Amino acid sequence: ATLYKVHAWGAPYFAVNSSGNITVRPHGSETLSHQEIDLLKVVKKVSDPKSSGGLGLQLPLIVRFPDVLKNRLHSLQSAFDYAIQSQGFESHYQGVYPVKSNQDRFVVEDIVSFGSSFRFGLESGSKPELLLAMNSLCKGSPEAFLVCNGFKDSEYISLALLARKLALNTVIVLEQEEELDLVIEISSKLCIRPVIGLRAKLRTKHGGHFGSTSGEKGKFGLTTTQILKVVKKLEQVGMLDCLKFLHFHIGSQIPSTTLLADGVGEAAQIYCELVRLGAQMGVIDIGGGLGIDYDGSKSIESDISVGYSLEEYAAAVVQAIQYVCDRRSVKHPLICSESGRAIVSHHSVLIFEAMAASAYAAPTFSTLGLQCLVEGLSEEAHADYHNLSAATMRGEYEACLLYTDQFKQRCVEQFKQGTLGMEQLAAIDGLCDMIGKTIGVNDPVRTYHMNLSVFTSIPDFWGIEQMFPIVPIHRLDERPTVRGTLSDLTCDSDGKIDKFIGGESSLPLHELKGGHGSGGYYLGMFLGGAYQEALGGVHNLFGGPSVVRVLQSDGPHGFAVTHAAPGPSCGDVLRVVQHEPELMFETLKHRAEEFGDDDGNNVVNAAALATCLARSFNKMPYLVASSCGLNAV
Ligand code: PLP
Repeated sequence: ATLYKVHAWGAPYFAVNSSGNITVRPHGSETLSHQEIDLLKVVKKVSDPKSSGGLGLQLPLIVRFPDVLKNRLHSLQSAFDYAIQSQGFESHYQGVYPVKSNQDRFVVEDIVSFGSSFRFGLESGSKPELLLAMNSLCKGSPEAFLVCNGFKDSEYISLALLARKLALNTVIVLEQEEELDLVIEISSKLCIRPVIGLRAKLRTKHGGHFGSTSGEKGKFGLTTTQILKVVKKLEQVGMLDCLKFLHFHIGSQIPSTTLLADGVGEAAQIYCELVRLGAQMGVIDIGGGLGIDYDGSKSIESDISVGYSLEEYAAAVVQAIQYVCDRRSVKHPLICSESGRAIVSHHSVLIFEAMAASAYAAPTFSTLGLQCLVEGLSEEAHADYHNLSAATMRGEYEACLLYTDQFKQRCVEQFKQGTLGMEQLAAIDGLCDMIGKTIGVNDPVRTYHMNLSVFTSIPDFWGIEQMFPIVPIHRLDERPTVRGTLSDLTCDSDGKIDKFIGGESSLPLHELKGGHGSGGYYLGMFLGGAYQEALGGVHNLFGGPSVVRVLQSDGPHGFAVTHAAPGPSCGDVLRVVQHEPELMFETLKHRAEEFGDDDGNNVVNAAALATCLARSFNKMPYLVASSCGLNAV
């Protein structure tokens, strides 16, 4: 377990139990407790149709833990409450969840419900996100903010104004100067007084991977000149009292509280200036950026970690705002934040299964014999062969590498020219492998074939090389004897995982117990609850995983599955790319009627073919393990 550093990145939610299985502590506890959920038992319960109450869901699988979500939300709120109280700040914190981080209905509804006692709201960045946020917030606190970010047209603005009419605490945040004219025009037409916010383009620049949204040349927000124009125009039309809200976002994964305080301090100055210019300001919204410690290093140096805790983050924000406001004698604003990653990352685990591993090919030397092997070689290849043999005898490592390369290259050339047969080339490969093994250069890393699409389920790994902790969810009481990389089901060379946290290019893994395709070895990708589902594509027409929602309970298993949804079927993903599965099925069925009954023994007749086709349309595109490895659990 220490090999995978589970405690470093997983505490207080993930640990390893005495059976060597990963357990989930849904209420976030540092110590062992009877409330732990054994992840392997969850997988067994939901995927094995034979287990009692088993659902027979296919892998890959996302297991969501709403209790973890609740704990994250409460921890964030408590961190701000504590910072506010201890620093004597004279206002409160009221966050929003940016639905783009994970738009799943249950995730959004859970957040609204868990956060309603402390007026937690939602943020939208597009029209459909606004619609779902409006709907979800009908069940939230009436004071919860509905922050409308993103580029807006007249329809987006009309919808946001309607949301205000529906008594939702909606704020239209101007992302571009031009949006103001639409807001003025439509709000007067609809006779709805808007609450207006503006997104400031800060000078503070986050230099990390996610920082391209920040700085003067950032994509979003209003420059100082534009902010002044907005204030002037609002004043002219008698709407300056509508401007109440200042927003900024300097990028995700803010690495340090120094950078954070710098950005927040700059924004607080803008806030105070807006007060001076006559706006009825009340809220400063610091955007997202609260980071996650993916590798457990808690280090500013690592680009997948951050050098602060939740508490330190909140303290830095409160202090930076308070400092500026006190110096300018401005009333302390309500603090809003839009943390996405920090709220949803921990709550879901992606489980996938190794279907096979490339066998470690122990070098086998040719049955052809040495004489036969060297017979057809060119003079140069012959010389290389002799040099290689001599270097091997003398144990000269560098020379061996050089001559092996040279020898192989020449032999391949000969093969291409047709002067060397396939058996001979294989024998030469065997000889070189054997020499490699003797001098200790053979790469023992194996390839594990996973029932997964990287493009669908871990798109950030492919797109921006974001790493997540990936760990077997069982057998952690057994020393792993193999190192492996993970290869997915897509026929794309990028569909592999060969970089792991800690800078490793392979992962310690266990030998598979079953034969090829038998499955039964399960790995989990952790901390991927944010963005991965929303960004995932359908490369090779692999759709999303099955999803279950698991609550901690006092029953015999310690958990209850409260919702289960199989992943999209082949028919579903075909529909995404405009095919019509029903018509396709009809066409193929006619074809089956035309050709199916020709089968002499009538076993594979038209009806059987049609059943088989229907089944294919209805099943998920992922592989099915041939013998359920779960039996071994
Ligand atoms: N707010 C805005 C405007 C964003 O663009 C984003 C993410 O890109 C967020 C909030 C969420 O950021 P994070 O997930 O880093 O908290």
